[in-house]
Amino acid sequence: ERVLSSEANGQDLSFEQSLRPQNLSQYIGQDKVKHNLGVFIQAAKQRFETLDHVLLYGPPGLGKTTLAAVIANEMGVNFRTTSGPAIERPGDLAAILTALEPGDVLFIDEIHRLPRSIEEVLYPAMEDFCLDIVIGKGPGARSVRLDLPPFTLVGATTRAGAISAPLRDRFGVLSRLEYYNEEQLTNIVVRTSEILETSIDHEGAVEIARRSRGTPRIANRLLRRVRDFAQVQGDGNITKAVSDHALGLLQVDRLGLDHIDHKLLKGIIEKFRGGPVGIETIAASIGEESETIEDVYEPYLLQIGFLQRTPRGRIVTPLVYEHFNMEVPSP
Ligand code: ATP
Repeated sequence: ERVLSSEANGQDLSFEQSLRPQNLSQYIGQDKVKHNLGVFIQAAKQRFETLDHVLLYGPPGLGKTTLAAVIANEMGVNFRTTSGPAIERPGDLAAILTALEPGDVLFIDEIHRLPRSIEEVLYPAMEDFCLDIVIGKGPGARSVRLDLPPFTLVGATTRAGAISAPLRDRFGVLSRLEYYNEEQLTNIVVRTSEILETSIDHEGAVEIARRSRGTPRIANRLLRRVRDFAQVQGDGNITKAVSDHALGLLQVDRLGLDHIDHKLLKGIIEKFRGGPVGIETIAASIGEESETIEDVYEPYLLQIGFLQRTPRGRIVTPLVYEHFNMEVPSP
């Protein structure tokens, strides 16, 4: 398993549960999103209404599920969760919706993976809080309208572009989560260390933050691994030296790149003179799926300015040559 994966693995899930901030003030970073949501939540509460439906989008591991749970908590309602791929038939959705209590937050992760036939059931549910159900088959079939309790749908997706326009239009609030900066990630690492009762100094936390690819999930996972090294090979305290040593052994370089990133970047330099080169060609040359490169490896490399997307393909920037101590080729 890739230690830098932004997707949750089995170990992360139970660990993350204990780390989730409960309210907006504990939720670090994403200031604009947090501020606006705070206003909408307060306004809805003052009017004794449910909050408008919210769509959260952005790369994995940035805290969409956490924020959805925070919204429910701030509204003082139940938090129910499901995901796009888990809802296979209209009946599955009907069962979830009819079990809601008034005001509940229903969180649908990976909402872009909902089948179209289910999306259509969701429209009247989101708009008018009702369900149109067809009873029976053939000429005797008739449609029955069921009232639902008012609820707030919070949808999460890593691919805002993959959501159909009619579904997107039914969300009142669209919030994009951004990668976290070093200071925010440092605060997250320090907060997690307090919860884990692990001793860490500021520099030790900065070192982990710097290598976490702007992603809290990765920061928390790296912290857990560094803590192991501190405990077994040191005195239990995490300092810069301990973080450096442990992350070096985990093959996470000082910018949070690992051997897969290195293979990708060096591949473009060595085989394609730094690009431009098409994504399919890169994929074939390093033996990965092009979707995996686009969804998993590339976003962070684009974010830190190591890769650029051009109409003629991907190019590596001079920053990459600098990072690898290589000379930038003359044009
Ligand atoms: P995915 O969509 O892949 O499930 P996600 O965006 O929903 O990812 P979360 O599961 O919400 O990510 O967050 C991952 C971990 O990071 C959690 O343990 C959570 O506690 C922590 N985390 C996320 N955002 C924050 C934050 N703003 N402050 C503190 N901790 C955070």
